[in-house]
Amino acid sequence: MAELGRWTRGMRTGLGEDPTHGAVVPPIYLSTNYTFEGLGQPRGYDYSRSGNPTRDQLNDAIATLEGGVGATCVATGLAAITLVAEAFVPAGGRVVVQHDAYGGTWRLFSFLAEQGRLVVDFVDFNDAEALGTALTTDTDLVWIETPSNPLLRITDIRAVSDAAHAVGALVAADNTFLSPLYQRPLEHGADIVVHSTTKFINGHSDVVGGVAVAAEQEHHDRLRLWANALGLTGSAFDAYLTLRGLRTLDARMRVHTENTEALVALLDGHPAVAKLYYPGLVGHPGHDVALRQQTGMGSLLGLELHGGRAAAQSFLDGLQIFHLAESLGGVESLICHPASMTHAGMTDEARAAAGIGDSLLRLSVGVEASEDLVHVVTEALERSGNA
Ligand SMILES: *Cc1c(COP(=O)(O)O)cnc(C)c1O
Repeated sequence: MAELGRWTRGMRTGLGEDPTHGAVVPPIYLSTNYTFEGLGQPRGYDYSRSGNPTRDQLNDAIATLEGGVGATCVATGLAAITLVAEAFVPAGGRVVVQHDAYGGTWRLFSFLAEQGRLVVDFVDFNDAEALGTALTTDTDLVWIETPSNPLLRITDIRAVSDAAHAVGALVAADNTFLSPLYQRPLEHGADIVVHSTTKFINGHSDVVGGVAVAAEQEHHDRLRLWANALGLTGSAFDAYLTLRGLRTLDARMRVHTENTEALVALLDGHPAVAKLYYPGLVGHPGHDVALRQQTGMGSLLGLELHGGRAAAQSFLDGLQIFHLAESLGGVESLICHPASMTHAGMTDEARAAAGIGDSLLRLSVGVEASEDLVHVVTEALERSGNA
């Protein structure tokens, strides 16, 4: 018997296992509750908040792909971050968060700190000295996000995990930007991996969801317990759709990558382009670390045009295919202006510290035909060059 690879095992989760009718695709379990076989004889499931067979199939698929002992799917990506914070940071505990983490992550930890629930320190993880100072022995949790949003900065997961473990802190890594196909943080020392499954894992921009995957059983048990206690678990219907999306993740990622590489070839060195942020570029400051810990470079890129905000405006005016919208990782190409959209919730100072300027655009490259993407971006560059 052939030993099947990780992707095949993950994408085939639940297929052909229906005992009732032999359905190839597993049925969805929408029932909120389950009968007991008899008094004091519960079956595997009793109530859908605590456990649901459809959600568990998605949990199993994601745990397989990330190489964790188990996964806990919740209602949103931010619910997954909330879950990790609630499960592992005691009252008054200390959290060290990467300074350019997702805007919602920044807001959540800032709000929790304002309430006195915990203490948070936002630190540039590429500044070894600042990180060393922040990692005090009373640190409970260290929050990595790599590549970061929207500048695609790379954090060395192994180096930060080792430093965090040396002071007894737990390490969580937000892996949303690459999916488990291009990066598996647990293999580089992280204890917990978090995703907004809204992005690549579902991949069709029609479900909001999140997941926390643990490397150790004890951590997984705690996450599952707290997800139920807090009521964060995701719906069966969302899990069904997300599992359906996940089954094509590998095929999608390959086209995302091919299209992104075609656009990078166009943008790199183009006279209208002032700065291009993509970890696959040799000149990107995180390129070497990316090569070490990633198996793919993803389909997000940051772009600054000569001519500032006016050039960005001309680039956007009449741009075909790319919708001006938040979010990323779907089959459709998107463009966003982080300063006024995804990162609007940050203070001006925090945004400046994170290097998110007013002329920055972020592209999430979809799976359309690459020649069409190249065509419409070429036209947009010409417009912006004339701005
Ligand atoms: C979108 C996103 C989140 C938040 O996820 P939601 O599903 O929107 O709650 C967290 N981290 C990253 C990197 C994201 O892109």
